[in-house]
Amino acid sequence: MFIEDSHKEYDVIIIGGGITGAATARDCALRGLKTLLVERGDLCDGASGRNHGLLHSGARYAVTDPEGARECISENMILRRIASSCIDPTGGLFITLPEDSLDYQEKFIKACRDCGIEAEAITPEEALRLEPAVNPKLIGAVKVPDASVDPFRLVDANILDAVRHGADIIKFREVTGLVKENGDVKGVQLGDTTIRSRQVIIAAGIWSAHIAEMGGAHIDMMPSKGSLLIFGHRLTRMVINRCRKPGNADILVPGDVVSVLGTTSDKVPFEDCEDMKATSDEVNVLLNEGIHLVPELSTTRIIRAYAGVRPLVVADSSASGRNVSRGIVLLDHEKRDGIKGLITITGGKLTTCRLMAEMATDLVCEKLGLKIPCTTARRKLPGSEKRKSGKDPVNKRAAVGRHGSEADMMDFNGKGGGEIICECEQVTRAEIEYAVRNLGVRSISDLRRHTRVGMGTCQGSFCIRRVAKVLAEVLGTPDKALELMNDYLQERWKGMSPVLWGDTLREADYMHKVHRK
Ligand SMILES: Cc1cc2nc3c(=O)[nH]c(=O)nc-3n(C[C@H](O)[C@H](O)[C@H](O)COP(=O)(O)OP(=O)(O)OC[C@H]3O[C@@H](n4cnc5c(N)ncnc54)[C@H](O)[C@@H]3O)c2cc1C
Repeated sequence: MFIEDSHKEYDVIIIGGGITGAATARDCALRGLKTLLVERGDLCDGASGRNHGLLHSGARYAVTDPEGARECISENMILRRIASSCIDPTGGLFITLPEDSLDYQEKFIKACRDCGIEAEAITPEEALRLEPAVNPKLIGAVKVPDASVDPFRLVDANILDAVRHGADIIKFREVTGLVKENGDVKGVQLGDTTIRSRQVIIAAGIWSAHIAEMGGAHIDMMPSKGSLLIFGHRLTRMVINRCRKPGNADILVPGDVVSVLGTTSDKVPFEDCEDMKATSDEVNVLLNEGIHLVPELSTTRIIRAYAGVRPLVVADSSASGRNVSRGIVLLDHEKRDGIKGLITITGGKLTTCRLMAEMATDLVCEKLGLKIPCTTARRKLPGSEKRKSGKDPVNKRAAVGRHGSEADMMDFNGKGGGEIICECEQVTRAEIEYAVRNLGVRSISDLRRHTRVGMGTCQGSFCIRRVAKVLAEVLGTPDKALELMNDYLQERWKGMSPVLWGDTLREADYMHKVHRK
């Protein structure tokens, strides 16, 4: 359950509530370990809430990193089975433009097939029939099993499963130190609070280096920033990639009702990771490159820009982000640094989260002298279980789309439960109550991550006062509604400010007029 503090002793404490930590908490809990996950912000505050949401088939890496590609296709297939409510099986298309080479396409198809990834070459005419918005100058196209995945839902589903199997979750508390006795790690320090455990797993993305340092271990990590743009509607049905060596702005992912274009790749100092914002220069790079993929991007409304940091582990930090391995890194600090009780799991991708969790949990079990097999590849995640057939009322359908079978736990018949609070995304009071009760939501930004409130066309202009009022009521702090709303508007402004022209500027101006005091 979600708790504020703990005096229990755990088998394992996991630091970080991104996808790696969430999937690891699930695996540990399913294997019967007494598990605690600690996250300093909300779930998904790091890279896990700031990516494309592409469920890689591995095709993108087939030429440059076949091992990573094999991991992706294998995990892609598993996640489709166990996490269907988080995945939109869009398929993917790699297009070759006249400035790229058809020789690369040939090499690409062979590399995909060598890695076990289905790759079917189709004619430009067929590609345009499937996807009329792609650049009509294309000279080749290949279909692959890419898909779109909602990272927020995937994290939530893992956390829900962990909690339902006994895990405790502490959000909004930072691990400030590791408890050490005779050089071994015995737990974590959250300010003045000491929580003891037999093993500690660092799953803190780019911040893993800093936490390992607290335990006396050094991990050479390189923060690699990637910026992305969200466009106001779906321009394509499939994920569109450029068929060339990975470069800037060569992926367009349709997700829910929007399209996400990314990304850039730049080495940044560690200090910058605390407040990631896309810059105007990065927006220009994305747009200038992105229009080669889908020309219509130049006239489509941009909703916002955002940025995340890839947790890359390097040997040589003079290398640039895109060339550094994005492979999974599991560090046994007992073997590596002589520090018992400490493990780090990082690197990898959203797509490979389950595998990363399995590797980390296997190692924990080995350390604890336990032989408990991993079952995460077989068990469906909450939300992805089969639902009873029958027609849902209209106001429940969006919640079913977002949460799958979990929507049946929402109280649509309770007082005001079916009332629509956010029109664009059709979020009801019942869904807000569910998110507060099950996912530890405290602010509108948390609620946005777990329900899509305010993420639609109006970006909260029309609904946010109502959302603030209802959330404040559900939280039991009705006098805090204005505070909740102001925090949300500041956060939205951060994403809008680098793209302030055309429709986005008009919308920002409108929002300001609606909400100014
Ligand atoms: C721009 C970009 C695009 C990407 N696109 C894709 C994609 O389309 N598909 C894909 O498969 N992968 C993609 N990735 C990779 C993927 O997003 C990451 O590999 C993954 O999200 C990393 O998850 P994580 O849990 O390891 O780290 P994070 O999500 O960063 O989580 C680490 C967590 O640790 C917490 N933390 C830090 N310090 C402390 C502390 N002291 N105490 C408590 N908590 C702490 C942070 O708040 C954070 O929530 C992309 C990455 C980027 C940056």
